[in-house]
Amino acid sequence: MPAYLDNNATTQPAPQVIDAVVSMLRDDWGNPSSIHRFGQQARRRVDLARQQVCRLLHCQERELIFTSGATESNNLAIRGLLEARAPRRTFVTDKLEHSAVREPARQLAERGYNVVYLPVSPDGLVDPQALKETLDRHADDVALAAVHWINNETGAIQPLQELGTICREHRVPFFTDATQAVGKIPCDLAALPVDLLSFSAHKFHGPKGVGGLFVRRGIKITPQQLGGPHERDRRGGTENTPGVVGCGVAAELAGQFLSGDGPARGRAQRDRLEHSILRAVPDTVVNSVGAPRLWNTTNLGFPALESEAILVLLSEQGVCAAAGAACSTGSLEPSPVLLAQGVPEKIAHGSIRLSLSRYTTDAEIDDALRILPRVVDKLRGTLPAASAR
Ligand code: PMP
Repeated sequence: MPAYLDNNATTQPAPQVIDAVVSMLRDDWGNPSSIHRFGQQARRRVDLARQQVCRLLHCQERELIFTSGATESNNLAIRGLLEARAPRRTFVTDKLEHSAVREPARQLAERGYNVVYLPVSPDGLVDPQALKETLDRHADDVALAAVHWINNETGAIQPLQELGTICREHRVPFFTDATQAVGKIPCDLAALPVDLLSFSAHKFHGPKGVGGLFVRRGIKITPQQLGGPHERDRRGGTENTPGVVGCGVAAELAGQFLSGDGPARGRAQRDRLEHSILRAVPDTVVNSVGAPRLWNTTNLGFPALESEAILVLLSEQGVCAAAGAACSTGSLEPSPVLLAQGVPEKIAHGSIRLSLSRYTTDAEIDDALRILPRVVDKLRGTLPAASAR
């Protein structure tokens, strides 16, 4: 079996999740809106899933909208808030967001909205002082501010508490794309100054095509999908019941994982991987090394190499890794996220991401440690002498 070190792209579904999805398809296939017993049984299981997710996030059930995943949640949060808060026309965000935030932001700018991009540090952190100054300046025109929680490429953790507090002080709703955070670090929405939060179940061993958007009580959002009273009139359409139930089970399992020593064990694996590569491969750069980082991610730069070439050879030899977001695979451009945080092009071009999960074994780390230095050596051997340094 190849070593799977691409868990920020997606994770393997937990066996309990698979059982729940199958039983929903096979046994409890009713429409939860139906009045009869098939419908009511499906409704019960959707309700239970909602409780399971809300327990993980520490929010109320009425504050959770099930969606088809983080991309839909991000679009709903951004468009839904900008519509609801018209005539305000300023959207504050940053250039390190996932494309599911960057693209809606770009479209808003094309439509004449004022999109303000906050500056970021070389480690990929948004500066709270810059947020404060922006909100001071644009005060009454800001409809929404959006900063992701954890970067999918580098694992850098944003100063969410500080950013959210500044938004609260300015009475500006604060949205965070928490797709790489939910299920991997504790998320206490009772304490976090966040008004909207998005996630996808498949990032924490749930099924694909399902996730959610937390919308804090009192925040008005204009629905983007009309067609029924589902999800308290905020997202029309028959629920993806197998997905939702799988998401609930995944949330419950994530809660158990977070209360044990799993994250510490994962961090030790990641650190062993990172430190050993740094020792074995001269000139390796760890991107965002100065930021607080998620326990599961390392983003390594090998100056003057091409990340695609590294990934192809790794894959051939049995290590699955990535460069940037899975959604941008196929492009030969260096990661726009790394460039936006000021990583030099020569390093960004040769950067790859290794990401672990609670299923990652020590043997997989050993495989990567055996194979990656060989791959880099081989590619360096093919470089013209001048660019090899
Ligand atoms: N936001 C972030 C930070 C992500 O990492 C991803 C998935 N790579 C998404 C949003 C989109 O998730 P999905 O494809 O499940 O909609």
